[in-house]
Amino acid sequence: MKNRIVLLGPPASGKGTQAALLAATFGLPAASTGAMLREEKSRGSAIGTEAERWTTQGGLVPDELALRIVWQWIDGRTRFIFDGFPRTLGQAQAFDDGLQERGLTLDVVYLLELSDETVLNRICTRLTCPGCGSVFNESFHFVTKGSPCPSCGVELTRRKDDTREALDRRLSEYRKETLPVTEHYEARGLLRRIDASPARAVLFQALYDDLCANNPEEALS
Ligand code: AMP
Repeated sequence: MKNRIVLLGPPASGKGTQAALLAATFGLPAASTGAMLREEKSRGSAIGTEAERWTTQGGLVPDELALRIVWQWIDGRTRFIFDGFPRTLGQAQAFDDGLQERGLTLDVVYLLELSDETVLNRICTRLTCPGCGSVFNESFHFVTKGSPCPSCGVELTRRKDDTREALDRRLSEYRKETLPVTEHYEARGLLRRIDASPARAVLFQALYDDLCANNPEEALS
């Protein structure tokens, strides 16, 4: 079984949703650096306030800050799914070194690929629940801004960085900083490319099939 998984991809490629599905299916703890930063912000912590300078405009927070929350979260864990981390080569190298010090290695890195056009469409119609973190799309989930979350009832909102301006910055950061991370993992033979354009259940099946490909005993009946 693969116990240490990273999900990379552009904004709205489904990283968070797929991480939650994989976590529930395989019993793996999942962490999103983006969600952790939003949580820190809503708690009013020093890290959250510091991070907001970058996050609302779609920039990346400094490596040191991202790594600080990652190592705090890992603290003793040996199995995990990371969504949206590492996002720069500096983070990837520090992550490799830190895992090695703990006697751990990554098992697989999935790159969820999506065209810019689909990213834009999804971002403009994406709503999130500040209560439970669920993500919905106005085009096919029969919800609008302010609707009660179908999962927990809290009012759905649009993320502050889900704007056209912030998206341009996020996509350019993604190309400049995160694509080199995918090359780093490709060179190490860990990268698997997955088409993220299908519906979430279809995408999940592709990830599930790949994870079980060499572990038939893991496949659910
Ligand atoms: P996400 O929820 O993954 O879209 O992340 C939201 C925002 O949090 C990003 O646009 C960045 O500002 C910040 N962020 C999340 N993960 C990282 C990371 N690994 N490195 C730097 N910034 C990050």
